[in-house]
Amino acid sequence: MSGCNCGGAHGHGGGGPYAEGRELVEFVAQAHGGALRRREIPGGGLAATCQGCQAPFVLKTFVGSCPSCGGVHAVSPPRASDPANIQYAGDGFSLAG
Ligand SMILES: [Zn+2]
Repeated sequence: MSGCNCGGAHGHGGGGPYAEGRELVEFVAQAHGGALRRREIPGGGLAATCQGCQAPFVLKTFVGSCPSCGGVHAVSPPRASDPANIQYAGDGFSLAG
């Protein structure tokens, strides 16, 4: 009993919704066959600060990019209540597909 209800097969500590950085971004982008990345975050989104260029923006979907530099950010549904959990994929990352 881990209390995790994400429904996916995953191991904590190696990927999944509690990964960090690019690993988390890739996980969210691929979750639900790629549908999750375009799903809107409940409550109108999260106020984010770009971890690439420091520009403020609103992350409205679980995967989004900075309007200033295009840096890709994501948050996983179990952690979407806190902007501190937003992960940055790093310079030069772009979503495949
Ligand atoms: Zn930026």
